[in-house]
Amino acid sequence: MSNNCLFCRIAAGEIPADTLYEDNDVMAFWDISPQAPKHFLVIPKQHITGPSALTQADENLIGKVLRVGAELAKSNGAEQFRFVINNGEDAGQTVFHFHLHVLGGRKMTWPPG
Ligand code: AMP
Ligand code: ZN
Repeated sequence: MSNNCLFCRIAAGEIPADTLYEDNDVMAFWDISPQAPKHFLVIPKQHITGPSALTQADENLIGKVLRVGAELAKSNGAEQFRFVINNGEDAGQTVFHFHLHVLGGRKMTWPPG
């Protein structure tokens, strides 16, 4: 837990979020600034700054983040969806706690901006 990390504080219940799912390992909540009709984030509760910080020990946890993201997309009416994980400022990362964006409910374009 990093006290100055927004998503650690959400995971700890210190800052409220519009939560879809939570267990011991992961948490999912609706994005505060949605970029699609369905847009939520799935995070590991453990503080990992982003993909570049992953180690082998995180493989099961991050696999679970993906599985939970796909299941929640389906159960929330987004059968088709896009996963996005930003790594670093140039990629658009603004919160330095690993998070999977799940976007759905509209037709996506490619390439992303
Ligand atoms: P990124 O730009 O990939 O780091 O994504 C960070 C995401 O977190 C953005 O889509 C923000 O809209 C979202 N966000 C920031 N603060 C909150 C919050 N308090 N609750 C929910 N989502 C948030
Ligand atoms: Zn954190």
